[in-house]
Amino acid sequence: MSLSITSPAFKENAALALADVDLQQALTHVERGFIEKRRKAAEALPEFEALRDEARAIKEHTLAHLDLYLEAFEAKAQHAGAEVHFAETAEDARQAVLAICRRAKARTVTKGKSMISEEIGLNDFLEENDIAPVETDLGEYIIQLRGEPPSHIIAPAVHVTRNQVEQEFRRAHAGLDPERDLSEPVSLLAEARAALREKFLAADIGITGANFLIAETGSSVIVTNEGNGDLTQILPRVHIVLASIEKLVPTLEDVSTLLRVLARSATGQDMSVYTTFSTGPRRPGDPDGPEETHIVILDNGRAEMLAGELREMLRCIRCGACMNHCPVYHAIGGHAYGATYVGPMGAVLAPALFGLEKTANLPNASTFCGRCEAVCPVRIPLPKLMRHWREREYERHLKPAAERGGLKFWAFLAKRPGLYRLATRLGLAALSRFGRQDSYASLPFAGGWTRHRDLPAPAAKSFLDQWKASR
Ligand code: SF4
Repeated sequence: MSLSITSPAFKENAALALADVDLQQALTHVERGFIEKRRKAAEALPEFEALRDEARAIKEHTLAHLDLYLEAFEAKAQHAGAEVHFAETAEDARQAVLAICRRAKARTVTKGKSMISEEIGLNDFLEENDIAPVETDLGEYIIQLRGEPPSHIIAPAVHVTRNQVEQEFRRAHAGLDPERDLSEPVSLLAEARAALREKFLAADIGITGANFLIAETGSSVIVTNEGNGDLTQILPRVHIVLASIEKLVPTLEDVSTLLRVLARSATGQDMSVYTTFSTGPRRPGDPDGPEETHIVILDNGRAEMLAGELREMLRCIRCGACMNHCPVYHAIGGHAYGATYVGPMGAVLAPALFGLEKTANLPNASTFCGRCEAVCPVRIPLPKLMRHWREREYERHLKPAAERGGLKFWAFLAKRPGLYRLATRLGLAALSRFGRQDSYASLPFAGGWTRHRDLPAPAAKSFLDQWKASR
């Protein structure tokens, strides 16, 4: 099976997103809510910047010794009674999950939020095999009802307004009183909770993601704000953890450092409401827990990233801060990107996982303002990594001929200072004919840039000429 990647239609997707009134209303929450909350949380913790350095160092150290930590994790997890499955590809991971489901004769699977599940297209695959997946995170539940993928890695339904959720619930829960009041978020939450409670109790298997895997103890860690992850892994007889190789962290101490920057960067909370550590299945005397625990660890191209220029991307702890601060994401939301991972982190990760041919638009969907790098808790140089993909796109002849020609022409000029200065003078003279101080002006050869942007009249003299005159 293949995932639906619509990144090649990014420009069309973006135009539709900009014209979508409901989406534009929903997106104001990202810009107004998340940014301010992160800023306050960071300011309230004097050691926040030092913790970011520490978090970066922990992830770098782990990546440098990932083979050892994977082995150590496997040994500890097995010792605790869990079964560890390594999956090289998305298909391997899907088959591993299916085999566990078949063995358990599972018909219904509850799921806590898992981006790896999205990455491997697990829901569609399970349905094709007559197994019903039920998302239990409220945001995931909403988008599952709407038949959509998540539009944000920590707030999957951030693109949906409250009114749209109400309409969806009235459609999906048609057996309930049509006169019931769903005008408040709390009433929507109560209705979803009641609907999901039955699913939790009926599920044969629970599947969760993992924010971290701890080599020291063989534990997996999930953070949620709803507690659905706990019910997903405790109530069914079998628990499957889906994680990728870069989720490894050496020790409990390291996790405590990463947790301190994760929630603050993501939602501005000191800590998420629920932080759950799970080690193996239920032991004799435990009051609850699954009888079987399986941990599926996915590579899917990451080992290749580890050895190349994109290695730093594997430090990502999926906090979502880069997309929360991205002006492009604010304008179009996540679906326009057309890939599982969106925003600045997706612009780097999606080409590595799904191929640059399908996703070349994404590293170009950035103003390079640098806000993503400025807020990333593990200091990933996202603009530099997007530039890496832009260079590969040029090398592999994926850019349109006109753009390639323009870049070649610019490189030709940039290597010849005399000619470059002459071209600058001619360009200034030409631009001053089109430029305006008080209105838009559309350049015939760059309409995409200037149709909706001010093109101020340029200075009469170039910087170089002004500098020379001032000496
Ligand atoms: S790239 Fe950085 S800011 Fe973006 S999700 Fe990953 S850790 Fe968070």
